[in-house]
Amino acid sequence: MHLLLKLTAHGAWLKADIMISFASLSSCSDGNSYVIFTDSNKLVIIDAGISYRKLKNSLASLGLDAQNVTHVIITHAHNDHIKGLPSIYKQLKPTLIVNSLLKERFSYFENLSTYTFNTHSNINGLDFFSIEVPHDHINSSFLISYESKRIGFISDAGILYPEHLNHFKNLDFLVIESNHSLKRLELSNYPELLKIRIKSDLGHLSNLQCGEIIAELYHYNLKCILFIHLSKRSNHPDTLYDEVISKLQSNFPLIDYKIAPYDSPSDIIEI
Ligand SMILES: [Zn+2]
Ligand SMILES: [Zn+2]
Repeated sequence: MHLLLKLTAHGAWLKADIMISFASLSSCSDGNSYVIFTDSNKLVIIDAGISYRKLKNSLASLGLDAQNVTHVIITHAHNDHIKGLPSIYKQLKPTLIVNSLLKERFSYFENLSTYTFNTHSNINGLDFFSIEVPHDHINSSFLISYESKRIGFISDAGILYPEHLNHFKNLDFLVIESNHSLKRLELSNYPELLKIRIKSDLGHLSNLQCGEIIAELYHYNLKCILFIHLSKRSNHPDTLYDEVISKLQSNFPLIDYKIAPYDSPSDIIEI
């Protein structure tokens, strides 16, 4: 196990595990971006749906320096996950890591690397295992691990089958899309075709689906869940709380439940 030595107030050296730190920088249908790291001098960004300026300011508000971004890994090429990439790449020249099936689309970027489904990629010591999930675009969720710690990152999936969930057993921390409330979606002014797309197996996870997945994945090591990618028009943190979190809290009271803000950074969560 990789250990740090920490000096206590009494002058004794204690061994301490290295933590994985994670924060949402922006999380909604307008733009998605997240940061993960074990060393604040080596930041990995997951998805680039916000501008360089917003990324820089969001990281700064968390005490992090955008100049320390070494890699940007992309889940899929929907606009809300990549639209800030040109400005971020121009300013920071990170290594860009995309699905090999999307390589052509990103060939414009020089520092390009790829991952494939069901394989491991080592990024600054973090192991990213890529899992294909149903969506109306080639899309990857990740099991991210470091030493014995396991983080599930699931965004933009219409449905998850047991073969997907099997990858996310024994997690310490789950980051999961809870896109819409079915009730609010029906009441929204979205066009009917869009409502059908969102609800389909190639669309987005509803609050209800998300709650069912969490009940399935519950494990005594699971310390924290961060709900991401809430729709501004068909979901709301209060609705998510009423429909799902309040019930989960009574069944699994020891888990820390957090909701990623739409347009501003979450706190840094340490695992
Ligand atoms: Zn999205
Ligand atoms: Zn998408």
